[in-house]
Amino acid sequence: MMSEIKLHDKTFVPFINESQISEAVKKIATEIEDYAKDETVIFISVLKGSFVFTSDLAKVYQNDAIFDFIRLKSYDGTNTSGKVEVLLDLDRSIEGKKIVVLEDVVDTGNTLVKIVELLKNKNPKEVKIAALFYKPEAYKKDINIDFIGMEIPNKFIVGYGLDYDELGRNLPEIYQLKEMASNKRMADIILFGPPGAGKGTQAQIIKDKLGLTYIATGDLFRHNIKHQTELGKQAQVYIDRGDLVPDEITIEMLKDAVYKDPNARGFIFDGFPRTVKQAEFLDQLLAEKDLIIDALLSLNVADERIVNRLVERGKTSGRSDDNEETIKHRLRQYYEKTAAVKEYYDQQGKLHEVDGVGSIEEVNNRLLNVIKNLKLRGEK
Ligand code: AMP
Repeated sequence: MMSEIKLHDKTFVPFINESQISEAVKKIATEIEDYAKDETVIFISVLKGSFVFTSDLAKVYQNDAIFDFIRLKSYDGTNTSGKVEVLLDLDRSIEGKKIVVLEDVVDTGNTLVKIVELLKNKNPKEVKIAALFYKPEAYKKDINIDFIGMEIPNKFIVGYGLDYDELGRNLPEIYQLKEMASNKRMADIILFGPPGAGKGTQAQIIKDKLGLTYIATGDLFRHNIKHQTELGKQAQVYIDRGDLVPDEITIEMLKDAVYKDPNARGFIFDGFPRTVKQAEFLDQLLAEKDLIIDALLSLNVADERIVNRLVERGKTSGRSDDNEETIKHRLRQYYEKTAAVKEYYDQQGKLHEVDGVGSIEEVNNRLLNVIKNLKLRGEK
């Protein structure tokens, strides 16, 4: 299990795990294969950071390819006209060839401009850029990034070739700098209820009003299914039947989502936990971060209403599990496996029952009233 690490004087928290990285590398490899057609591409790996990415890409890239390496030292990293020294240059001519530059991460794009300038002077046929990680918020240049493994927020990252003052390159996963938890932490809340109780609608509004990070495991699964990731393929069979996805798969995905936002002001969980095992896991995960669930808000809606709501929703939602038969099965699953989660938090004195029948605004006001009256961690 990934956990916090220390490099020099700083603490880093897990951010992107090995399987997410390898999906991103494969995506790039496939796109470059399409681009290369039957030509031999020359990959130019930008050292030092790209050595791990280059090595993994080499193992999955299926066409012929040549690998070369370049290493630059920039004296003025913030100024595009600043001087750049070439510490290691290419060992062959690239004239008339298709070039793909391999970058571990592209942020401002300053180094990239230098590299492209240098390469274009050597008269290649074409220069394309592949970035395993790309920070759109930081990128300031016009050069097109042709192949992107994954877009990430503008955070300082280490691992998988990337360093903090030379340490951390050998970590198989990506970590991000831990920022000190803000003392303005709002609340960590579970929005609970049977399928169709209105959790998603309400959570979205509460999230915006309170500035919380919204995590909906159902949405995460659907996102993975849409992109046909390994996780998506595994989950799809269960979801289509209206069964719960096994705890191990769900827990792993949830953990990644929580780790992705180490600086959250609080989380609002929708559709998780759905079993007592998941609830125990969540408590443990938060405890590691010195956090705790403040409340479970349970939206109460009668079964008949729920079936009607979901059948209606099914007409436009495009969800494969919003048909009458699957809806009934999902409700059974709720009573058999999920309802116990309510008791689990009731025993901790955290259960708050809220009437889920009424207009969106009415229900929302009831929920916000409960949240307003919570005794939050920061005040204890
Ligand atoms: P939802 O969007 O919350 O209604 O979730 C849709 C489907 O995703 C559920 O019927 C389950 O198959 C699956 N799912 C979502 N969250 C979980 C969870 N916490 N545990 C197991 N399965 C889940």
